Formats: sequence, C-alpha cells, structure tokens
Amino acid sequence: MTTALITHPASLNHVTPPGHPEQVARYGAVMRGLEPLDALDRREAPVCTRAEILRCHPEAYLARIEAAIPETGLRALDADTHVSPGSLEAAMRAVGGACVGVDAVLAGEVTNAFVAMRPPGHHAETSTAMGFCLFGTVAIAARRALDHHGLNRVAVIDFDVHHGNGTQDLLWEEERALFCSTHQMPLYPGSGAATETGAHGNVVNVPLDPMTGSAAMRRAYDDVIFPAVAAFKPDLILVSAGFDAHEADPLANLNWKTEDFAWITRRICEVAGDLCDGRVVSSLEGGYDLDALRDSAAAHAAAMIAA
Ligand SMILES: [Zn+2]
Repeated sequence: MTTALITHPASLNHVTPPGHPEQVARYGAVMRGLEPLDALDRREAPVCTRAEILRCHPEAYLARIEAAIPETGLRALDADTHVSPGSLEAAMRAVGGACVGVDAVLAGEVTNAFVAMRPPGHHAETSTAMGFCLFGTVAIAARRALDHHGLNRVAVIDFDVHHGNGTQDLLWEEERALFCSTHQMPLYPGSGAATETGAHGNVVNVPLDPMTGSAAMRRAYDDVIFPAVAAFKPDLILVSAGFDAHEADPLANLNWKTEDFAWITRRICEVAGDLCDGRVVSSLEGGYDLDALRDSAAAHAAAMIAA
C-alpha cells in the first residue's frame, strides 16, 4: 500500500502581502522537500463543491468570502488574513484535496494521504476567517468521512504550534469526532486550555509551555493524546500537520526538531495501524521557516510512506 500526495499549484495563486509569514514560497519549499520521495502516489487536489464547505460553514459565510475576493490586488479580512484573486480556488482545492484524500484512504486505494496545500485551515471558525485561514479544511474532511462515507467516529490530531481553534469550534458539538491538539501556550490565538473539553468531552487540549522541546511533546502524546484516541476507537485519523513548532520557526518557540515531526508521524501511523487499518489523512497547516518547513514536511511524508 502506498501514500498519496495530493496537491495543486493553484496554491501559488493565494497571495499574501510582502513580509507575510504565510507566503507563496511555502508551497515551493514543501514541494522541494517532497520531490525526492519517489514512492508518493501524486494526485491532483480538485476544487471542492460549495456543498462540501457547507458541511461546516453557513451559506452566508461562504457568500461573504466569495464576495471578498478582489479582482486585482489584495484584500484584508482581518489583520492577519488576506485574500487575492486566486485565494478562493486555492482554498477550495485545499478542501477538495482533503476530501479526495479521505475518499482514497477509505476506498483502500492508498494507506494514507498527505494533502499539501495552502492556505491552511485550522483557525477558520464557523463564521470567521482568521489566522491565515478561510475554510476549516480538516473539520470539513471529518464531516465528509462521517456523513458521506458513514463512518461512526473520526479523530483529529493537530500538532501545529498554534491551537486549532477553528477545528475545535466546528467540531465542538460533533460527538462523532474527537479533536486533540498540542500547542504552545501562551500564543495566538489564545484558546486551547485543558479545561476546553467540547460539548461531549470530545475535545482534548494539551497546552505546552514555551521552550519545552521534544520531551514534553512526546509525553503529551504518549500519556494523554494517544490514550484518548485509543479509547475513542476512531475509524479514521485526520491530522492538522503544522510544522511551526520547529526550533527554527519565527512565530513560536516550542523548539521541536525535524526528527520530532518524524516521531509524531510514526506514532500517529502506529496508533492508526492498531485502531483503523492505518488510515490517516494529513493536511498541511503552518510552518514559516522555509528550510525547516521543507525538511519537516519531508520527514512527515517519509514516515507516512514507511508506515
Ligand atoms: Zn500554526
């Protein structure tokens, strides 16, 4: 069995202002990292339907995003989040990629899939674009797995250095989904306390102190998150793969190393192997040092291939 890489160069057409960390060059960095991995089954990320987005966001929100896309230049949705003429297609291909990743894994065509697209998605709340994100890509993929494919339970593991407030918001009342996140605290967006546990006990937040590095991260997963996932017995594991916990990242300081991204990916795939035939679909979130992003995404994909 194989690992799918699902992507599309439309990611290059989501443009942000000069100096913005979530920059076009991130896409090339990830592609350079993945380029040597011949084993990847390379697939195109399609534009999703509007109905796919409406699994998690209201029609009025989608219409507002569509109306905000400028004909030329850039438009700011908030201080951090911008759209350009190509942003809607890029974001809809990010969602489409995650959905076909779910489809391919559940069809048994591949063991697992990595969706390498931008913009990221885990900060987009039900009716609020924020934190560089327009649509809740991973939450939408979870709903597709549950409602379209009829799975009973889906777990989401978010190891981006920022709390996935959007995914948490979109899945807060979804008892068929377990949302688990490690993230630096304090840090943007400020949510993600361990006391935030979801409407059905279906949210597990493990905030990590700055500068705590590999050991604290590995304890959080082995002692808290993986036992919670095992108890939930998911049929599929989705991953919000942000690489901004890397020690070189300019936006945070958790001080993980490239090898830590290999470790977390290996362990997620092992847990998935025990629980759900290894079924994992991972979507790119953050990661803002281009060299660290290149190397960490490569380590992530290589561990998925080896699973
Ligand atoms: Zn992040």
